Amino acid sequence: MIVAPQFKAFNPPRRILMGPGPSDIYPQVLAAQSKPTVGHLDPLFVGMMDELKTLIQYAFQTTNEMTVAISAPGSAGMEACFVNLVEPGDKVIVCRNGVFGERMRQNVVRIGATAVVVDNAWGEPVNVADVEAALVAHPEAKFVAFVHAETSTGALSDAKAICEVAKSHDCLTIVDAVTSLGGSELRVDEWGIDAIYSGSQKCLSCVPGLSPVSFSPAAVAKLQARQTPVQSWFLDQSLVMGYWSGDGKRSYHHTAPVNALYALHESLRLLAQEGLEQTWKRHQAMHQELKVGLQQLGLTFVVDEASRLPQLNTVYIPSGVNDAQVRQQLLERYNLEIGAGLGDLAGKAWRIGLMGYGARRENIALCLKALADVLQ
Ligand SMILES: *Cc1c(COP(=O)(O)O)cnc(C)c1O
Repeated sequence: MIVAPQFKAFNPPRRILMGPGPSDIYPQVLAAQSKPTVGHLDPLFVGMMDELKTLIQYAFQTTNEMTVAISAPGSAGMEACFVNLVEPGDKVIVCRNGVFGERMRQNVVRIGATAVVVDNAWGEPVNVADVEAALVAHPEAKFVAFVHAETSTGALSDAKAICEVAKSHDCLTIVDAVTSLGGSELRVDEWGIDAIYSGSQKCLSCVPGLSPVSFSPAAVAKLQARQTPVQSWFLDQSLVMGYWSGDGKRSYHHTAPVNALYALHESLRLLAQEGLEQTWKRHQAMHQELKVGLQQLGLTFVVDEASRLPQLNTVYIPSGVNDAQVRQQLLERYNLEIGAGLGDLAGKAWRIGLMGYGARRENIALCLKALADVLQ
């Protein structure tokens, strides 16, 4: 008999989350999550899911029918886009300018497809001319995949221009919008994006664990014309859609994370209430404020102003400063979390997030005061 462990209930402190995600969560979203659980086929819940779908369509600026929230984090959204569309033997142009582009490549390879990698330096956006050159060199390529907002570096790529060149070579586009959704301008239909995924815990300021995705009619046609079944049963969108739509006779696919979906509904409702364009403006304005303060502290940015993400500020760690010690002191003295560098930037940079509810004056003031204190 294993002895029953006796623990106190877990009581986390209230941290200020200014890293690469999870971000500060709207109080209303936390409250929404604790409302009573109903059955996931309850008519009231189904009505809520219809609203949720409309809200996701608004956030993505799309009328795509196949628009849902996957019951798993952004990484599952990424995998869903790849496994549904890409078949063994397909060729995919993968743009890699940070950690998440590399993960896209790994998804392609695991499917048994071929990845043609277009590399750009960490901290730089995807170079559109390089993408065009790869398309010319590989006319049989069927997809172009790229990360809109590279959270590992803080660089924003020109999604509209990349989609334009992909379309001119008859390719479908697969776009990572985990950090861009709700923080940077993003127009799925207007820009011709075919498959897109995001995450709940970045600029949507919702609880982690959900991934809004959307597939264009062309992507759905590709899915329907597959020669082989989708290798993942759970992520097969043709099965998932039986639960998310299905005209009054929705069928059980998996148990939806009911309360987490309440939270997403609330965070997207708040986004719609503020208005997308206003939200993009707020992130930009808050970034400007933070930028001035960081520069006064002598910190310099990794990414050029022209392609800098407002919601993720990557700055070099000054020489002689102990990275881990600073972050630990911020956490202990100020309950403030900022992000460490990732991959090529590990130990060299900090990533300061201004995402969703976190993109506000009080957070900036606290962050600048805390950094000034700890860096002294
Ligand atoms: C956070 C992130 C992911 C992964 O999302 P998870 O929810 O952590 O699985 C993918 N791409 C980008 C650009 C991200 O920032």
